[in-house]
Amino acid sequence: MCGIVGYIGHRDAYPIIINGLKRLEYRGYDSAGIALYDGTQIELAKTKGKVVDLEQRANGSISKKGTLGIGHTRWATHGVPNDANSHPHYSNSGELVIIHNGIIENYSSIKKELINRGYTFHSDTDTEVLVNLIEEIKKKESVKLGKAVQIALNQVVGAYAIAVFDKNKPNEIVVAKLGSPLAIGVGEDEFFIASDASPFIEFTNNAIYLEDEEMAIIRRGKDIKIRKIKNDKVVKPFVQELQLNIEQIEKGGYDHFMLKEIYEQPSVIKDTYRGRLLVDQGIIKLGGLEEYIPKFINADRIIIIACGTSWHAGLVAEYTFEDWARIPVEVEYASEFRYRNPVITEKDVVIAISQSGETADTLAAIKLAKKKGAFVYGICNVVGSTISRETHSGTYTHAGPEIGVASTKAFTTQITVLTMIALKLAHVKGTISKSDYMMHLHELDMIPTHVAAALKSNDKIKEIAKVFKDATNFLYLGRGYNFPVALEGALKLKEISYIHAEGYPAAEMKHGPIALIDEQMPVVVIAINSNHYGKVVSNIEEIKARKGKIIAVVTEGDTVVRELADYVMEVPKTPETLTPLVTTIPLQLLSYHIAVMLDRNVDQPRNLAKSVTVE
Ligand code: GLU
Repeated sequence: MCGIVGYIGHRDAYPIIINGLKRLEYRGYDSAGIALYDGTQIELAKTKGKVVDLEQRANGSISKKGTLGIGHTRWATHGVPNDANSHPHYSNSGELVIIHNGIIENYSSIKKELINRGYTFHSDTDTEVLVNLIEEIKKKESVKLGKAVQIALNQVVGAYAIAVFDKNKPNEIVVAKLGSPLAIGVGEDEFFIASDASPFIEFTNNAIYLEDEEMAIIRRGKDIKIRKIKNDKVVKPFVQELQLNIEQIEKGGYDHFMLKEIYEQPSVIKDTYRGRLLVDQGIIKLGGLEEYIPKFINADRIIIIACGTSWHAGLVAEYTFEDWARIPVEVEYASEFRYRNPVITEKDVVIAISQSGETADTLAAIKLAKKKGAFVYGICNVVGSTISRETHSGTYTHAGPEIGVASTKAFTTQITVLTMIALKLAHVKGTISKSDYMMHLHELDMIPTHVAAALKSNDKIKEIAKVFKDATNFLYLGRGYNFPVALEGALKLKEISYIHAEGYPAAEMKHGPIALIDEQMPVVVIAINSNHYGKVVSNIEEIKARKGKIIAVVTEGDTVVRELADYVMEVPKTPETLTPLVTTIPLQLLSYHIAVMLDRNVDQPRNLAKSVTVE
């Protein structure tokens, strides 16, 4: 995920692009770059860091002239954040320049082919492969830029929003989209290109949103030609009038980043398994894992180290790894692990989980485990982060930047990665039946649809939030795979609403928390169809007998708990092993709405920080 901006018209492109990139920095901010073209010379400046660093780099190094330009703020997926990997990227001849948001999944086979044909590469990105593929096609087929882009895009697999121009065509930018957003602002004899409308909202209210598999040739002072990438069909441009302010646009129309990130989950979960979960072929392919599978399978045990929400994702994995792969798992708070002289040997595999990849305690725990000879595998969201560099290997979650301090999409994408690892190991080890394995591949592929369905209960959950917003304590209960979800639900509420909440395994209630229950006490119970359903129903009866108020998360169509509970929040049916990915959704929404109603600072709750880089 990254931000792209482009301009072609009669004004200087530089300030428009720089300001536009600043507005898009919420989409990624590990590197930034710009290319300008004045009809004679292309100028390019790029750097690791933020847009302010790019401005510094540009000052003095380029003349900033040109009424055509493209710019990028990066959130690395392929290649660490450094100057060379920053966009824009030149083709080998230096004639084509590209910016790209997304992932080209089959870049490595195309790259090999291009290397065989004499191409050289100056970055580790998938994007540089794409621009050289376009160049190769343009030369070989003797076609214009637009056609070459179209042919190239028919050969790539993945997701993209791209803007590319050709030194030989000073009045043209070609754009295309599949999976990543792309808006074209239509002004008087000028056009703007951006990942969302925020970079051009002060110049024009008229915008065309490209649909997936569409490309457009944008010519200075002329009309826009839109075509379908697959069949070349001409599409009539649909110009919309925008009625949004900048603030709203940056948050995609949502009031808070947290809500936006909650709603992004169907698409980011898909991004997490894109190109990795190949259902038709019955394959899970995780680049960082393949060569280390024997290490995992032969390990005495797996130790998962993490903090906060990531620790909860680790707890879910304890169930899947043990259940499917039959490997003993321990889940540890990194902060405790690092100081208690733990027993670790070279026969242990350590999985470290951290959204930012910078969590200080997790980092220290990794160093300790490495010193004792363990193999350490990282699961991070931020590419090139310290943890991703300190671990022996790992998998990125590809969730895109998470801005809201309370983690939401990081949690579900971490579980998605851990689930894929557990399934893969179990399959290789032979501890899961072929049919169970295949069923889970199919069901995992259905999760984005189920999450989208769970999000539809938003209005109902808002009503429930209204009823309980003034409660001073909440209890969250779950069993089995949903015990960690209960912990996570309670944590979310504490973090953003400042209401005290406890998560407990449902059966443990009788060993203490039941004493807290009275008519004032809301109890959130995850009571989905599962092996423990009957037992959880009994727990609900026990709470009712003490006049507690029940808010239950139930499977669609449930009738028994619906009768007993005061309020229900429904989620679609999925195998119990995957339920944490859906049951967590209503709990995120419940916390969010309560916090909003209490007028809390949802995206930046008091006393917290997004990435805990101190002990
Ligand atoms: N895959 C490209 C890269 O790693 C683009 C990532 C993005 O969307 O920022 O550079």
